[in-house]
Amino acid sequence: MSATLDSMVDRIDISGLRAVTIVGALPHEREIPQPLQIDLSLDVDLRDAGRTDELGDTVHYGLVADRVIAAVEESKDILLERLVARIADEVLSFDRVDAVDVELTKLRPPIAVDATSTSVRIRRTRADADLPAHTVNTAYVALGSNLGDRESYLRLGVHGLGHVTAMSSVYETDPVGGPDDQGHYLNMVVEVETSLDPFALLRRCQRIEGEAMRQRLVHWGPRTLDLDIVSFDGVSLTSDELTIPHPRFAERRFVLQPLADIAPDLCPTGWDERLEAGGIRSLGPLDHDVA
Ligand code: ATP
Ligand code: CA
Ligand code: CA
Repeated sequence: MSATLDSMVDRIDISGLRAVTIVGALPHEREIPQPLQIDLSLDVDLRDAGRTDELGDTVHYGLVADRVIAAVEESKDILLERLVARIADEVLSFDRVDAVDVELTKLRPPIAVDATSTSVRIRRTRADADLPAHTVNTAYVALGSNLGDRESYLRLGVHGLGHVTAMSSVYETDPVGGPDDQGHYLNMVVEVETSLDPFALLRRCQRIEGEAMRQRLVHWGPRTLDLDIVSFDGVSLTSDELTIPHPRFAERRFVLQPLADIAPDLCPTGWDERLEAGGIRSLGPLDHDVA
């Protein structure tokens, strides 16, 4: 379909959906359902999904198609104009869709001249539909690794988290707690813009740890990769699974020093004087492109 093409915008196209429904003003159109074709082009920011390979970072187009067909089959509108607006609303109810082009075609138009089809085409944005822009939150995630190729594990973490908007330097730190004989850590903190909720972000962190083959053998023992959510916008919550802000972050120089690089306002006042100095060396930035 010939939607307004904007090369800066990511798109998901769903073409050639078919549904049969009552639509039209003529007496026989009110009686007999007729075939329609629906072509959709969704504006969706696909950068996160491109990095994370997760369905939660994109729009499930199978679900969009199902919902649109259901909406069409339920309706008995007179005008294609009304039905096409209904379809646009349905698509915009998916949080990640910023705008949608909808083309709705009567495949057997009831007109006296020879025409293969008639169609209407509209573009609607979230603003048109009076919907809030989809919510994006800022979270800070602390990364740590003291096993194997530590820098590669940090890179794996940064890459998997999605839309990373700031990164601290990498710090080499002496291990705190846990068994005596474990190696030095690399630690850093990153800022992530995410439309996941805190629990979904935790699951993402755990999935990435899994990809790093993390094994939990000893409490605070050596690990290939540990991802802790330090903070999540204004959220403060305590549950079995997740506590935000992270319950121990204010006592840990290996978290606060990197956090101070990118979000000094989140560090408790006087932390630098209060916490024991030493045991931490800056290694400079991680060799990785911030997306
Ligand atoms: P610490 O939490 O003291 O840094 P750890 O990172 O070694 O220790 P893990 O074994 O990685 O501990 O995590 C234990 C559990 O902590 C996780 O399964 C998770 O459910 C829970 N948890 C609670 N709050 C958070 C948070 N803010 N970020 C990450 N995990 C959290
Ligand atoms: Ca931790
Ligand atoms: Ca952890």
